[in-house]
Amino acid sequence: MKRKLIIVGLDGATFDVIDPLLQKGQLPCLARLIGEGTRATLMSTIPYSTIPAWPSFMTGKNPGRHGVFDFFTVEDGRRRLTSSRDIRSRTLWEILSQNGRRSVVMNVPGTYPPAPINGVLVTGMLTPRESPFTSPPEVADLLHQVTGGYRINCQSHLSGQRLVDDVLTVTEKHKKGFLTLLRRDEWDFAMLMFRATDVIQHHFWDRRDVVELCYREIDRCIEDIAHAFPEATIILVSDHGLQGQQWDFHVNKWLLDQGYMHIKRGRTAELSRWEQIADLEGRGALAQGRLHPSRVSRALLKLGITGHNVRKLIPGHWWTSLKKAVPQSMRDHLPAGKDLEYEVDWDRSLASAYQLYATESKAIQILGTDQETRRRVRGEIIEKLEQLCNPLTDAPIVRRAYRREELYEGPYAHHAPDIILDLHNGYNVTNAFFANDYCTLRDEIRGCHHREGIFVAFGEDVREGVTLDSPLSLMDAMPTALHYLGSAVPGDCDGRVVTTEIFKPDCEVCRREVRFERPQATELGLEEVSPYVDEDQAEIEERLRALGYL
Ligand SMILES: [Zn+2]
Repeated sequence: MKRKLIIVGLDGATFDVIDPLLQKGQLPCLARLIGEGTRATLMSTIPYSTIPAWPSFMTGKNPGRHGVFDFFTVEDGRRRLTSSRDIRSRTLWEILSQNGRRSVVMNVPGTYPPAPINGVLVTGMLTPRESPFTSPPEVADLLHQVTGGYRINCQSHLSGQRLVDDVLTVTEKHKKGFLTLLRRDEWDFAMLMFRATDVIQHHFWDRRDVVELCYREIDRCIEDIAHAFPEATIILVSDHGLQGQQWDFHVNKWLLDQGYMHIKRGRTAELSRWEQIADLEGRGALAQGRLHPSRVSRALLKLGITGHNVRKLIPGHWWTSLKKAVPQSMRDHLPAGKDLEYEVDWDRSLASAYQLYATESKAIQILGTDQETRRRVRGEIIEKLEQLCNPLTDAPIVRRAYRREELYEGPYAHHAPDIILDLHNGYNVTNAFFANDYCTLRDEIRGCHHREGIFVAFGEDVREGVTLDSPLSLMDAMPTALHYLGSAVPGDCDGRVVTTEIFKPDCEVCRREVRFERPQATELGLEEVSPYVDEDQAEIEERLRALGYL
């Protein structure tokens, strides 16, 4: 029998939201897939960020082996957007192509620019506007035609109900386009990734009704896919979970307080003044990741109008109703304080969590060239961070501060940031310098990433009604999918082929021996040129900023 496999990616999906909805009977499709299939917790990469998580999913390898650690790739101390060319390892669909299997892959982050495969590839987030996003190219016309104008991303400048509507519109387009491609052609493997769960949860974590609406819509989309192809095995994976974020940890403010970072001479006097007027809750523009103030912000700043002094002039109850009346997108233009202008003294600074990586990566770079000093500073910072407590609750903030060599293995492990933080639940990091303290309470709870994602398998070969006791790894999906479809697995995968835990022990998939093949190194230096021009980078950074990733 020729097997077909569909993987549906649900960015940021978590059982913490799914389980209560299942109990209320609001996710009929997921209830069927989980009830008649196998479920497990899926452990993400560290950092549990969309990139490197999806590249680790598609290669079955840790970032040290595929070479991608963040939305940005750092070369010679400068950053550029990560593209599919930076993934130095064959992906699931590239290996399937080499084995004569056809794939349809849609909307997976880290697939731009689209490399030709045996089948169809439609790129996902990090695709610049107006750029070729399909392979073969003519598929783009078809997608535009059947969806009334295909779009990869939602409009990140929107807020409130308009953002929700837009996210769901884009989700519907993705599902429609995907079903069209699957009905049109022969395929063995198909994958669609939905971003809606991530975007909605980041923005609306404290609006349970909105989050639940999103999951119900996704459930309906999965039902349409499962209904159209009942013969296919379906696997659902999320690249990480999500959780409510109460606390901001301002890591640069902490580095500044500890003397590991310095501001340029001549600016320090101004600095103390800025600190006085910095947003009381540390929710400055930098805290929200907007390093480049908009024109509106600059104009308001020139007039001395900041979020902080506006708030001081307005009585508390007026402020609450005003906040409700003014949309978030407009409020975001209010500069928080004069923390928009500063200059880091790179020559005197020993460490920084600023400028190179997305905040979700929770990365710290050790600066300077003297190896002995670097080693000492890194050890000191790790020790201090692991003992650091929340000044308001006395609870520890950092679960672990990892040295890169503790997390990554492989030819690119040395490209990783020096320190990667794993924080306790409820905390996220910001780039802010001028918060009131290194750790502050947020006035609105936001969604931030959690390491535990979801795994669900469903189909004729899959065990029924099973919940696995131990979590699977995000890196297990690719080797398992290869084996399921009859392909050999690269010998250097970090993920493992999962057989009897999810498939019926007497089925052919479990009886057939797993074949391994010699690892094939992706040739180095062939495609090092970035596909992005400066305008692309600026446009995509703006989108990442709107999501709170920068
Ligand atoms: Zn994600």
